[in-house]
Amino acid sequence: MQFSDIKKQEQQNMMPAYARFDIAIVEGNGVVAKDSEGKTYLDFTSGIGVNALGFCDASWIEAITKQASALQHVSNLYYQPVQTALAQRLCELSGFSKVFFGNSGAEANECAIKLARKYSTDQYGKKRNKIITLVNSFHGRTVTTLSATGQDSFHQYFYPFTEGFVYAQANDIKSVESFVGDETCAVLIEMIQGEGGVMPLDMQFVRELEALCQKHDILLIVDEVQTGMGRTGTLFCYEQYGIHPDVITLSKALGGGLPIGACLCTERLGTVLSSGMHGSTFGGNPIACAGALSILERVADSDFLKQVAEKGVYIQRKIADMEDVAEVRGMGMMIGIVLKNGTAKDVAVKCLEKGLLVLTAKTLIRLLPPLTITYEEIDRGLTILADVIKEVQA
Ligand SMILES: *Cc1c(COP(=O)(O)O)cnc(C)c1O
Repeated sequence: MQFSDIKKQEQQNMMPAYARFDIAIVEGNGVVAKDSEGKTYLDFTSGIGVNALGFCDASWIEAITKQASALQHVSNLYYQPVQTALAQRLCELSGFSKVFFGNSGAEANECAIKLARKYSTDQYGKKRNKIITLVNSFHGRTVTTLSATGQDSFHQYFYPFTEGFVYAQANDIKSVESFVGDETCAVLIEMIQGEGGVMPLDMQFVRELEALCQKHDILLIVDEVQTGMGRTGTLFCYEQYGIHPDVITLSKALGGGLPIGACLCTERLGTVLSSGMHGSTFGGNPIACAGALSILERVADSDFLKQVAEKGVYIQRKIADMEDVAEVRGMGMMIGIVLKNGTAKDVAVKCLEKGLLVLTAKTLIRLLPPLTITYEEIDRGLTILADVIKEVQA
């Protein structure tokens, strides 16, 4: 089918919820995507941080096809060995004690929010249910995770939103302190605000935040949906800050392209959500879990993580050397680029024309390349990016 027909089909039959680029992707292999007209692209997006091992990784395909021919789904009324194996591996590798599986990042955060509120009301009574999140954060698109998202632009149209969220300034411990009260049950943060424009939190702020939470028995929840699974050069980004959150949430890269989300918690929170309090029809689906197990074995390897960190430094250095770049920031292979002039959207469109897929976040260009990208592919992509940035600035 030709692109024009695909576009027409979309416009006639789908809710216009997405602003899409004018191509349809039909195939992928490693870092290379192919569109409906046969044109190829270097992919520096990983499907927004999902395809950690690139398109159609061989060992991942083997894991999911093997599982699909054995058992595609079974309800959570029964035990299931792939799900339990993934839970065990996640706990072993992370040091967390218990896992709940959902299907997306928003759902993982919903679980974390329910867990925090349940814990706090169990311990301190019903009123202790407020959650502090950060201005400019992003936590998902459900009515509750939109509330958790600290951006006014997301708090429109869908009233009434879930109550009980307040927004403190990132990197300002005084601001967080000003919101802490008898009713505070949790603080929810991203270590690097992704959708908000690739803004890493300051080390000192994060350390002080952890101490503040411990002092008041406020749960520290880290949304690692985008930063987790090796993206920043460690299995989870919070490790680089030397903190120990009570709860973390994962999704995006966890399934390598299949929908899965996870909420992980420490020992003392392990039984807060008990029988009948939470659930999901598809959560912990065997095929998604088989895919996640294969991804986890690859990305948790220390040599693999080391090369992610090294490539991240290499990419960031090369971009910092580009003349028309004002700033490059991020960690590992989660990278944001501030332009001196010109809009990120224009750069993204021009890159696409020249065969490179990049993302934007606010006014930034954002790169989330597959973690398996080679130096040769990095160089090729960055050559295109440098040319386009120069052109757009001219
Ligand atoms: C993408 C993202 C989410 C939402 O994940 P969905 O799978 O789209 O629900 C939540 N938090 C962060 C930090 C994200 O980047």
